[in-house]
Amino acid sequence: MFTERFNPDVLAKMLDANSPSANEVSRLLQMDSLDVPELARLILASDNETSRLEVISAGNQRRESVWQKRLFLMPPLYISDGDPNREGCLDYCVYCPWRHGNVPADKLTRMNPDEVRREAAHLLQLGYGDIELVAATDPELLKGQNAARMVAATREAGAQNVGINFFPLKRSGDYRALADAGCTFAIVWQETYLADIYKKVHPRGPKANMQYRLEAHDRALQGGIKTAGVAFLGGLADWRFEALATLDHALYLRKEYGANIIFGMPRWKDGAGIPMHTAPAFYGDKEYEFVGALYSLAIPEALPWFSTREHFDLSARCAKGGGCMFTLDCSTEVGGYTKQGGFAQFPVYSRSFAQGVEWLKNLGYDPQIHLPW
Ligand code: SF4
Repeated sequence: MFTERFNPDVLAKMLDANSPSANEVSRLLQMDSLDVPELARLILASDNETSRLEVISAGNQRRESVWQKRLFLMPPLYISDGDPNREGCLDYCVYCPWRHGNVPADKLTRMNPDEVRREAAHLLQLGYGDIELVAATDPELLKGQNAARMVAATREAGAQNVGINFFPLKRSGDYRALADAGCTFAIVWQETYLADIYKKVHPRGPKANMQYRLEAHDRALQGGIKTAGVAFLGGLADWRFEALATLDHALYLRKEYGANIIFGMPRWKDGAGIPMHTAPAFYGDKEYEFVGALYSLAIPEALPWFSTREHFDLSARCAKGGGCMFTLDCSTEVGGYTKQGGFAQFPVYSRSFAQGVEWLKNLGYDPQIHLPW
């Protein structure tokens, strides 16, 4: 389990050092693979503008050599904003408009498998090939067989790759049922790897158990899922530490299970009715772009996924070289692709499949509708 080897003090100590010289940065960028202490040295180089740009350029080149400008399109399908009989999501994340009790009762929606099948069919008709299922912490989806039914419905609609991004299941056997139903990737954003901040932003609810979440990818991969998504939520804590911890986690999952890695890139944004109205920690565009490149330097075969919370121009710039996941159509309302009037989890940038593919091609990218694994 990752928790048995994860040592935040050791990571913090790596970052408590002088910045590397230009020679050291050049030497590191020529290496075929980088370990966690070496990645920490590159993070420390980010204060120097020349070094920062060198890291970004090297990351983009490394990515392009593996992926030749291919971008992998993935629409999210939001299937539940919580339990309609229990005031919605069971969690209280202070950064999220879907936190318990915040979504008006008449807007709470939980889709059944037939509705999921129809909504998935709509997305596939637009041109997509794969789908990510997203939900709040809904007690119905904590049962492995119910989650598997949603995956099966999406597969029946015709999706080739189906992934889940909701509260992690308890046992590797639950993930086995999901894998058997056709689930190919499991995403669990850790939000923060710092225990004190984690506690502050997840004051109550199932998600308050940090260890349970940190071990979720182990359970999923032991259960037969092949691809794992890791991420920190930018803006909650020092991005340097969070990026290094995310890399530590990803390198562990790759070494231990041979997992394919998706690096999520969400950043905190203000939303309706949430208690946290300013990001506690700075994480600007320059840092965001740097982290995406660093991920590709660490694992060139991994796919960073630039967030729909960001402007398309920033995402397109960050995706240079290809080898990234990208979202065009995006609604964070449950069933929001075919009907209006739901309660969005957060505001996003969205562009239609047809227009978005054209735009990406004009930028020199090669959009793909299926994940490569
Ligand atoms: S982030 Fe997820 S778990 Fe937390 S309140 Fe929002 S929907 Fe619920």
